[in-house]
Amino acid sequence: MNPAASPSDPACPLCGPAPAGLLWEDARLRVIHVDDSPFPGYIRIIWRRHVAEMTDLSPAQRGNLMQAIYQVEALQRQILQPDKINLASLGNQVPHLHWHLIPRWHADPCFPDAIWAPNRHDPVQQAAWQRQAHALTTQRVPLLRKAITDAFEGV
Ligand SMILES: [Zn+2]
Repeated sequence: MNPAASPSDPACPLCGPAPAGLLWEDARLRVIHVDDSPFPGYIRIIWRRHVAEMTDLSPAQRGNLMQAIYQVEALQRQILQPDKINLASLGNQVPHLHWHLIPRWHADPCFPDAIWAPNRHDPVQQAAWQRQAHALTTQRVPLLRKAITDAFEGV
């Protein structure tokens, strides 16, 4: 455990009250649907203590966090059937440990780059992607949200 890591930091946006899109939380972690993203089914898992790196966690805590990540990834694959899942832990801008779990499609605006890369689409591709994303968002993402909540509540 890093002795410099504080349990919370008032300047940190991830240390605050429950954010929009919160699907589940316990004392250790939060599972959040990033529902203002153009990438359907984008989930963020945030470790609740204000630590920066995976090696700030005990082995048991790391296992707990990774198990949550695998659980969500499996549901994203099953329900959304994306072409790829991207798992990312960056924290360069907000050094509070969190993981991005991002379903990706060949037709999405940045594929095969990371979602933070520039949009590659021309207007025709963009219109096609918006139809696909709308269908996913209205038909599949609600199922994903319910499945995640059920899975973490042990239903
Ligand atoms: Zn924090």
